[in-house]
Amino acid sequence: MPLSVVDLYRDVLPKTNCKDCGFPTCLAFAGKVISEKLPIENCPHIEPEVLARTREILEKQWATGKWLKKDPAQDALNWARERASSMKLKDIAPRIGGNLKTQGGQLCVELPYFNTTVIITEDGIQRADGTPLNRWEQVFLYNHMAQGGRREPTGRWKALEEMPNTVSKIKSMRQHVELPLLERFRGKTTELINAARRLGGREAGLPGFSPDVAFLFKPLPKVPVMLLYWRGDDREGFDDRVKLLFDETITEHLDIESILFLSERLRELLTGQEKASE
Ligand code: SF4
Repeated sequence: MPLSVVDLYRDVLPKTNCKDCGFPTCLAFAGKVISEKLPIENCPHIEPEVLARTREILEKQWATGKWLKKDPAQDALNWARERASSMKLKDIAPRIGGNLKTQGGQLCVELPYFNTTVIITEDGIQRADGTPLNRWEQVFLYNHMAQGGRREPTGRWKALEEMPNTVSKIKSMRQHVELPLLERFRGKTTELINAARRLGGREAGLPGFSPDVAFLFKPLPKVPVMLLYWRGDDREGFDDRVKLLFDETITEHLDIESILFLSERLRELLTGQEKASE
């Protein structure tokens, strides 16, 4: 029989609310154990026999996911890992433009990612400098590995709305990428230029467009992104405008969700509004 919060509180915990576990009440502690896998041993007042029996029940219960709090980042990471699990590192490296090498006796792929480098092994993905990569970034990179086509960029550029099945995503691109960029850099193109350079962007020209600022980024070796920015003109009643363009081969390397993730990540890095790690 699985243990509910009430079962654990009523039948296992001492109900003294002594706070030795770090929680104000036994009931609060029970809730964390059941929904977030907090170790039952954090309560030092349970008889060893009862503790062993309870732990056994909890292990089985957690394995089924019953009453566990949903963790979308972990669910997505498990799914993305599974999706990429059948691939061999030696096949992945050339497809995504990574460098196959041996590190500490273990085969790995070294991959430039924005202005940093990540190391992909059979066991996981982390930054080369050892700093953690948040779970959504890992999901993004696993999806890139799973999707990763072989084609090199052609230099022909497309906006998101020119790609198939993107109608529902155009609003997200506007809300989560373009508007925050405009809010941050309206009237401050010098700051945009400095931020773009710090991120490794290269000033670029693009036939047929005449933006005031154009930067080419290489967040991934086979996935270039172009940022275009036009200054507005108050007298003419024009607001600033910003647009991201992608190489026409991008959908061979990233699915549409991942293209949005990449765009949001670029916006975060340019504006310095990075989310806390998840
Ligand atoms: S340490 Fe145990 S007895 Fe004390 S409050 Fe926490 S759960 Fe209750």
